Parts: sequence; C-alpha cells; structure tokens
Amino acid sequence: PPARASAPRLRPEDVFIAVKTTRKNHGPRLGLLLRTWISRARRQTFIFTDGDDPELQLQGAGSHVINTNCSAVHTRQALCCKMSVEYDKFIESGRKWFCHVDDDNYVNPEGLLQLLSAFSPNQDVYLGRPSLDHPIEATERVQGGGTVTTIKFWFATGGAGFCLSRGLALKMSPWASLGSFMSTAERVRLPDDCTVGYIVEGLLGARLLHNSLFHSHLENLQRLPPDTVLQQVTLSYGGPENPQNVVNVAGGFSLQQDPTRFKSVHCLLYPDTDWCPVQK
Ligand code: UDP
Ligand code: MN
Repeated sequence: PPARASAPRLRPEDVFIAVKTTRKNHGPRLGLLLRTWISRARRQTFIFTDGDDPELQLQGAGSHVINTNCSAVHTRQALCCKMSVEYDKFIESGRKWFCHVDDDNYVNPEGLLQLLSAFSPNQDVYLGRPSLDHPIEATERVQGGGTVTTIKFWFATGGAGFCLSRGLALKMSPWASLGSFMSTAERVRLPDDCTVGYIVEGLLGARLLHNSLFHSHLENLQRLPPDTVLQQVTLSYGGPENPQNVVNVAGGFSLQQDPTRFKSVHCLLYPDTDWCPVQK
C-alpha cells in the first residue's frame, strides 16, 4: 500500500451525483441510465426532474428522485432553477463531493471515485472540461445601478459533467444557495454551467482544473481511442440530430441495438449484468 495511507478511502456515499433531466426525457433517456450506470451507483445518484412519474419508482429510482418544481422548458431561468435545487440538496446531504451530469451522460462510477480520491474535499476543487479553448468573456451588471464591467473566466461544460468539492461549494453559498443562484445567473445573463464558472473563478478567485476524462457531445466522440473509453469518467452521445457522434466500442450490441453505445460500454465494465451478452 502507498505510504500516504492516512486519509480514509473515498466511499461511494461521499459523492453526490446530480442527474439533470426533464419529464419528457424519462422514457427516451433516463430509462437507459437507470438500467446501466445508475444501477451500479444507486446510493450516490440523485435525479432532478420537473414532473412526477410513478414509472420512475418502478424502475428502481427509489427515493432519489427530486421534483424541483422548476418549469419544464429549456430557458436560462428554468435550467438555473434546477441547478439551484441540485446545489441546495447537495449542501443538505453533507456529502464531500458534488458532481453534476446531464441525462445524456454515462458515468463510470469507479473512475469518478478514483479521480476524486486524488483531491481533498476541504480544498477548492472545481473539475471538468471547458467547452471553449479560451475563457468566456461576460458583462457583469452590478446590482443597483448602470455599472457594467467585463470579466473573463473558465467554466466546465455542464453536458460533460463537472464536480465541486464541499469546501468550494460552501464558499459559493452567498451566490448559489436558496435561490440566489438565479439572481447570480441574471447578473451575467449566462446559462447554469457558465454561472458556476462565474461564481468559482470570477467571484471567488478559484480555478477550474481542466480535466480530459469528462466528455460531452460537443466533442467528436468517435475520436476517443477505443482502448481508452473504459477509463473515461463521463461519456455522451450525439442523439438523433447527430447519431454518428458516439464512442467507438466493440461489444455484443450493434449500432441499431445500442445507438448510444452506453449498453456496450456498460457490458464491458460490468459483464456480470443479467442482460449483457453471455461471455465466452
Ligand atoms: N433539459 C431540461 N429541461 C428542458 C430541456 C432539457 O432540464 O426543458 C435538460 C436535459 O434533460 C439535459 C440537459 O438539460 O440533461 C441538456 O439538454 P439536451 O441534452 O437536450 O441539450 P444540449 O444542451 O445538450 O444540446
Ligand atoms: Mn445534451
């Protein structure tokens, strides 16, 4: 064993994974996640949606479904409303790490745990993949007047997933807790993921740690070397508009049977799953 064995190993229950979804995606997207990676990460996963659905309980999502009561539209306000509930529930949970993903992400639960265990949750840690190759420039409206300033900061793409340490999340609370996240987002008029970057880098002066193990469908996912796919922390897929943007993995499922490639990835990671092809 390594010499630095003083810190106890990070446990699955130390991590809070928030999955953002919307009522109309429960069937088309969330079902696949529940049958694949969420089935191996039940204790750490919480589903944030905008409509009740008795089906979710039957699919084994249990008590970890949170109806945010945010409106079911793709606007900055509605998406920031969800992020604000994710944040509050994480703070309330007392856990060490907050990670956010979308409902078109595959999470490798063990890869995530291994990545986070390299950091201290008491330090300022903001981990993820930037969507731009340069910091975003935003105009900041300071409250109570016409003062507009320009600020530059990095942010992690929400669609690739990102994580925050508890230490950093607690420092964010004046701008993120109990609904203040929405007013903070209005100050810069940016989406939820950019607003997280604004709070962390722009307001707190902490830094995004750029990490290439997180993936969104903004990238060319076919370009990920097949022999590295199982080591990634998150994956995604292009969806109906861009069906060829999927990771390149072999396995027992054709593109027709597994258009997202998530079933194939899952069966390579967890071959003992009952619906996976029988191994020879
Ligand atoms: N989403 C949502 N409300 C909506 C539309 C989308 O909460 O009205 C969520 C969706 O479930 C997903 C994320 O927002 O987790 C991103 O949506 P999508 O993948 O459809 O769009 P993208 O921004 O990736 O193009
Ligand atoms: Mn998406």
